Amino acid sequence: MEDRIALYDLTYRQLSELLTGWGEPRFRADQVWHWLYNSLAGDFASMANIPKALRERLSTETELQLLTPLTELESASGQTRKVLFRLPDGNTIESVLMRYHDRRTACISTQVGCGMGCVFCATGQGGLARNLSAGEIVAQVIYLAREIRRVQLEQSTFQAGRSQVAVHPVSNIVLMGMGEPLANWAATWQAIETLTDSRGYNLGARRITLSTVGLVPGIRRMAQEGLPINLAVSLHAPNDELRSQLVPVSRNHSLADLMSAVREYGQKTGRRITFEYALIAGVNDSLELARDLAALLGGLLCHVNLIPLNPTPGSALQPSPREQVDAFSGVLEAAGIPSTVRMRRGIDIEAGCGQLRQRQSGIVVK
Ligand code: SAH
Ligand code: SF4
Repeated sequence: MEDRIALYDLTYRQLSELLTGWGEPRFRADQVWHWLYNSLAGDFASMANIPKALRERLSTETELQLLTPLTELESASGQTRKVLFRLPDGNTIESVLMRYHDRRTACISTQVGCGMGCVFCATGQGGLARNLSAGEIVAQVIYLAREIRRVQLEQSTFQAGRSQVAVHPVSNIVLMGMGEPLANWAATWQAIETLTDSRGYNLGARRITLSTVGLVPGIRRMAQEGLPINLAVSLHAPNDELRSQLVPVSRNHSLADLMSAVREYGQKTGRRITFEYALIAGVNDSLELARDLAALLGGLLCHVNLIPLNPTPGSALQPSPREQVDAFSGVLEAAGIPSTVRMRRGIDIEAGCGQLRQRQSGIVVK
């Protein structure tokens, strides 16, 4: 399998070059692309309008199966599903599907592990193993989309005559799983371009959210690309000193630089910026820091997600108590900064970043 071409790794252009190189007509790329990203075909045999000889060549020289599900967990409510995948080289990554009444959001990984070292993060505690390829990022979405479509088809068979099958089974994507997307720029951006391509999955850029620890050059590059992707910035502290303790990589990017890049992004795209702030008891949850945060974000079209810390085995840090969370959000509200306290979805299935993988691989240090 090693030397087979991973089809999800190819851009539309590369697929087209591959097929025309095999002597196929130009329209063939459109057909295969449609099978991959619109029909979500899981094998070549189902590609009905592709000549048999080409299907056979595709199945011997290319590869569709990049991810092997190892463990799948469903939350008690049935609304959150977490999948641990094995990659061809034996590494593992996690993806999470969250069902809401109006959308189905896939939370996707961009790296195996992460090298940014945030002290409170299970993924960061394990370090970086490697970047994911574009195909490995895309395949997570396709896997979850296929699962949703399968269930929808089953339901529509039961409810005869009423088709319940959605055009976009995964309707929203958050790049908020394992890894730092802007530290794996090329693959992440290619995956975004593949999934937004109108000839295939055709997801609106406004339905994608990229969460970053705050890598300034990457944010500036996103602003230049001009796609209206939602940007979420993991802030966790309103001053450089505290931030550099919690998020070590921020020593290379001052808050002043970060905020200027973020403001530029907001202006270029017209999108509201999200800030993530994990509330850690006695560390970053004082009302004084809430006032500093409000001052830092003043005048910006933004929203703050307050996330009571999800405790991890590798750190003694604890979540802020509920009253402190409410008081903190009250200060923001009084200053006109909108915020929500994010529900900890799927807490019973360890849907916190990197936690399932940490437990599976036995790197939990208790
Ligand atoms: N690397 C990117 C995206 C992946 S992390 C980033 O840092 O933004 C996704 C989000 O989960 C980030 O906001 C991160 O700060 C947060 N997070 C990580 N570990 C957490 C924990 N133990 N409790 C609460 N939030 C956490
Ligand atoms: Fe990496 Fe994000 Fe975890 Fe920080 S919070 S270690 S950037 S995955």
